[in-house]
Amino acid sequence: MATYSAAVLDDIRAGVDIVDFIGPFVNLRKAGANWKGLCPFHGEKTPSFMVNPKKGIFHCFGCGVGGDIFGFLMRQDRLSFPEAVRALAKTAGSPRAFMRRRCGSRPASARGSTSTSAASIRTLPSASASAQHPTPGTDCSTS
Ligand SMILES: [Zn+2]
Repeated sequence: MATYSAAVLDDIRAGVDIVDFIGPFVNLRKAGANWKGLCPFHGEKTPSFMVNPKKGIFHCFGCGVGGDIFGFLMRQDRLSFPEAVRALAKTAGSPRAFMRRRCGSRPASARGSTSTSAASIRTLPSASASAQHPTPGTDCSTS
C-alpha cells in the first residue's frame, strides 16, 4: 500500500483551492469567511454545507460529513485515500512540478542567449527599454 508523506499532502493541498475544487460539484455562495451550499452527500433544501478556504476544509452541519480536498474527492468519486491523493496530485502537483523544472533549467539557457539578445538591442534601440526587464526568471525568484 502506498503511503504519502505529510509534505507531499501539504504540497497538493497548497496547490488546490478548495472552493475552486468543490465549486463544480456544489453551488457555493460566499457567507462571511466561509462558502456554503447544498450538501452533495445528502438531500437538503437549505444550505448547511460549509467550505472554509482558510483551513482548506469542508463540513456539512446536516449530515456531519467533513474533511479536506482528499476527503471530498473520496466521497464524491468513491475513491480510496491513495486514489484520491493520486488524482489530486495529477491536477494540483503536476503544473507546480513542471514550473520548478523549467525554472531549474533556465540559468544555463539564459546565459547562452545573452550575446545574441545584446546584439539585437544594439540594432533596435526601441527594444532596449523592454529588454531591461528580465521577464524570464523573475517569476521563479519571487514565487
Ligand atoms: Zn450533508
